[in-house]
Amino acid sequence: MATLLRSGEVVLVGGGPGDPELITVAGLHALQQADVILHDRLGPVSCLDELGQNPELINVGKVPRGPHTPQERINELLIAHARNGRKVVRLKGGDSFVFGRGGEEWVACAEAGIPVRVIPGLTSSVAVPALAGVPLTHRSLVQGFTVVSGHVPPDDARSTVNWSALAHTNTTLVLLMAVKYLPQITTRLLESGLAPRTPAMIVSEGSLPSQSALFSTLGEVAEEASKEGITPPAIVVIGEVASLELGA
Ligand code: SAH
Repeated sequence: MATLLRSGEVVLVGGGPGDPELITVAGLHALQQADVILHDRLGPVSCLDELGQNPELINVGKVPRGPHTPQERINELLIAHARNGRKVVRLKGGDSFVFGRGGEEWVACAEAGIPVRVIPGLTSSVAVPALAGVPLTHRSLVQGFTVVSGHVPPDDARSTVNWSALAHTNTTLVLLMAVKYLPQITTRLLESGLAPRTPAMIVSEGSLPSQSALFSTLGEVAEEASKEGITPPAIVVIGEVASLELGA
């Protein structure tokens, strides 16, 4: 993987779930050459302070339902810095193309004639359950997993997810951005036929020193999560593997 950054190009770097050791070698090399880095709230932000070349750091992170830099503005900044001949890195949590809006940024740069490429990252949807000892597939238990966003509730007109069908996939369900609407989501899955005793677990702040995990069942996880005061970022895993907790 060629990680020599050229002036005037934008590189979309997936930074992994947060632990600075979980960014890829190529991703770190890109950070070390950048003139300017636009970063989020999630991802390996702690490694930004240790870059020898002192790049300009621009925080465009989105606090859930809080202040944020609109996507159009982020696109404009990427393009403007690249046009100024700088080496631009857009650092994301996880992987840029998994609920990361990396595709939109790619298109915006390409339409503006800016060279753009991607360095994939370790998506939290896979890494975070693993760090809590939960294998998303486990031979004899399940033959696949499905990653879904829960940022809008099932009955919302903006939702394009067929939650009822998800109750019948026989795959492990991995939910991102699902803390707020967990009661509505679990209710829909239960109504659609998924058994209340189906194992369900939540990992919050995965890969960070503050990582914590809650093991429960589909019938009880929403109430327990609210009782425990679980807040984003968190990943919910539903399915037989969610009771395994290897190494615990
Ligand atoms: N592009 C990212 C996902 C961005 S959406 C990726 O591939 O991982 C943001 C959501 O990702 C959060 O709401 C949460 O559900 C999940 N997430 C990201 N980092 C996380 C972490 N360290 N621990 C738990 N969940 C995380």
